[in-house]
Amino acid sequence: MKLSLVVPCYNEAENVAAFQEATIAAFEGCGYDYEIVFIDDGSQDATMHNLRKLHAQQKCPVKVVSFSRNFGKEAGIYAGLTHSSGEYVTFIDADLQQRPEIVRDMVKILDEKPEYDIVAAYQDRRNEGKILSFFKKSFYGIINRLSNVNLKSDASDFRTIRRSVADSIIELAEYHRFSKGIFAWVGYNTCFIPYVACERTAGTTKWNFRSLTNYAIEGIIGYSTKPLRIATFCGFLTAIASIIYLIVVVLQKLIAGIDIPGYATIIVLTLLLGAVQLFCIGIIGEYVGRTFEQTKNRPIFIAKEILNYK
Ligand code: UDP
Ligand code: MG
Repeated sequence: MKLSLVVPCYNEAENVAAFQEATIAAFEGCGYDYEIVFIDDGSQDATMHNLRKLHAQQKCPVKVVSFSRNFGKEAGIYAGLTHSSGEYVTFIDADLQQRPEIVRDMVKILDEKPEYDIVAAYQDRRNEGKILSFFKKSFYGIINRLSNVNLKSDASDFRTIRRSVADSIIELAEYHRFSKGIFAWVGYNTCFIPYVACERTAGTTKWNFRSLTNYAIEGIIGYSTKPLRIATFCGFLTAIASIIYLIVVVLQKLIAGIDIPGYATIIVLTLLLGAVQLFCIGIIGEYVGRTFEQTKNRPIFIAKEILNYK
C-alpha cells in the first residue's frame, strides 16, 4: 500500500461520503494504491452508520476504527497511525476544509525529494477574526520561547509523513497528546507548503475559545518545564520584595517613629502572598496531574469495533 489517509471523524455524518467521493476524484489516475482509514471518534450522530455503508461498498479500500467514546482528535490520529499500512500516511480532516488534491502534491514531493520525510501544509491566508489570530500568534510566540521544540505558526495537522516518521510517532505513546509538539519533537526534515483552508462542507467546528485555550495550555505544559522555573522566580521575587519592605518598615519605625497603621497593609500582603502561592501551586499541580495521568498507563483510545477490508 502506497498511501493511507487517516481521517478522524467526530459527528461528521454529512461529510464522510462527500470526503470519500472527493478523494476518489482527486486520486483518479494517480497510478498508486491508497486506503482511507476513518476513525469514528465516538460520534453521536449517524457517522458510524454512514461509515458502515462506505465500508460495505468499498469503492476504494476503506477501513473503519470506531472508538468506544470521544477520545479527541489526537487519539484519532494515533489510532489511524497504528491501523494504517501505507508507505506514506496523511492526516486529513473529514470536513473537506483540507482538499485531497493537495495530498497528491504532498505525495509527489515525498516521491521526488528523498531529503524530506514530512510534508506539512500551513494556512497561507486565514479567514478568521482578528482577536483569534492575535491569540494564536501569541500562543506560538510563548510556546516557542518556553519550550524546547520549535513550532511553525499556522502549520496544521494536515501533513503526509513517511513510514519511518509514523513508526517514531507510534513510539511516543504518551497520554496527553499535542500533535503539533509531537511532530516537532520527533524531528525529521519537513517541507512546508502553503494551502488555503476551504469552508466546512457541513456541520460545525468542534473548537471554541475555551477548548483552544485548553489546547494551548496543553501544548505549553506538555513541551516545557519552564513554567516551573517561573514559579521559582515568582517565589524568589516575592521573597526579595518582602525583605525590602521589611527593611523599610523597620527603618520607618526606628527613624521616623511611625507606627504602622497595620490593617490595610496586612490584608493586601496576605492576599498578594496567597495569590502568588496559589499561582505557583497551580503550575506545579498541572505537572503533577499529568504525571498522575501518565502513570496510570491507560490506553490512548479504546476501539469498540474495527472494520477491516473484506
Ligand atoms: N475531530 C475528532 N474528534 C474531536 C474533535 C474533532 O475526531 O473530538 C475531527 C473532526 O471530525 C474533523 C477534524 O477533527 O475531521 C477537525 O475538526 P474541526 O473541523 O472541528 O476543527 P477545525 O477544522 O475547525 O480546526
Ligand atoms: Mg475543520
